[in-house]
Amino acid sequence: MTKVIYPGQTIGIIGGGQLGRMMALAAKESGFKIAVLEPTMDSPCGQVADIRIVANYDDESALEELAEVSDVITFEFENIDYEGLKRLSQIANVPQGAELVRITQDRIIEKATLVGAGVKVSPYIVAQTYEELVTQIATIGYPCVVKTARGGYDGKGQQTLLSESDLPQAKTLFEHSACVAEAFVTFTKEISVIVQRNRDGETYCLPIGENIHVNHILHETIVPARIESSTAQKAEQAAIQIANAVDLVGTLAVEMFVLEDGEILINELAPRPHNSGHYSIEACNVSQFHQHIRAICGWPLRQPKLWAPSIMVNVLGQHVMPLTNDIAKYAHWSVHFYGKAEAKENRKMGHVTIMTDDINATLNEIDASGIWSK
Ligand code: AMP
Repeated sequence: MTKVIYPGQTIGIIGGGQLGRMMALAAKESGFKIAVLEPTMDSPCGQVADIRIVANYDDESALEELAEVSDVITFEFENIDYEGLKRLSQIANVPQGAELVRITQDRIIEKATLVGAGVKVSPYIVAQTYEELVTQIATIGYPCVVKTARGGYDGKGQQTLLSESDLPQAKTLFEHSACVAEAFVTFTKEISVIVQRNRDGETYCLPIGENIHVNHILHETIVPARIESSTAQKAEQAAIQIANAVDLVGTLAVEMFVLEDGEILINELAPRPHNSGHYSIEACNVSQFHQHIRAICGWPLRQPKLWAPSIMVNVLGQHVMPLTNDIAKYAHWSVHFYGKAEAKENRKMGHVTIMTDDINATLNEIDASGIWSK
């Protein structure tokens, strides 16, 4: 039986970052109360929450406190303690469960799950040690990308190897964890499909985003992705296949590579709303955050509809001043800031969404603004 959560009840969020904040803002529109567990005092989500529990994510008594005040619990990032989440799901209503967190915390388990779901990934090997990498790398050859199984993000914990002489560069990765090594993919585009599902199995994908990274950090998402409709269909199909295989409740972001021939390979998964889905706040009839809240509260999901093509641009620490200085010039930009105090270099501080009927003109406008030239 799906437990339905109603306005006035409390949604607990583990993690106080911008994803939690945007979930909370969406939930508050429908009159939910928000409790947040987060170690820092003045977090982006804490600023908009009704109840703040300031403690580490794996603090047992803090998790119990969250369980006591919450009617349903969700999380905004995947690197939470799996065992703690599992225990929490025994004493509280955690409709997403803990299994998808276990899968996405470890690239080895994630790859095996993807293969098991029948979707395609780049050929890969698992290496527990550097010596294993050296002996097995011929299976995939060069160029290849070695990635730590655990704990990497935004290109951290990764090393591209062009030839055998680069091998020693991968050595330090094994200080953190075992690794996977995968054949380098010569992709034409990177895309992401955000798939959302409730406990009754209702499943919808948001319009597909085309992602442009700069220095391994997401810079822009263009929606709809500029891909063939046959590729878009394959991408949605793959995302739904994965969602069904893991019995998804909530949100799963599926990052993919598009190849020259229109085929797709799955790169990685995130079991939560995703940076590439922020455009949906303005550009869709239901944002990724609204749909996530609906899914975990046992509400029926809505068929997403895109009001207009859109571009989302991330605002990192170094972009804050240039954007702030020029805000008056761009009345048609939707400017979001996450309430973070310190604008550190490369820190995600906010984003801008621009709805447009001319993607190329808007890309030019973004370039010409000079805001993102650093
Ligand atoms: P990840 O942390 O796995 O999302 O990787 C970060 C970025 O590195 C991706 O968005 C790609 O731009 C690039 N990348 C990762 N894996 C590969 C690969 N096998 N081949 C080519 N580029 C890759």
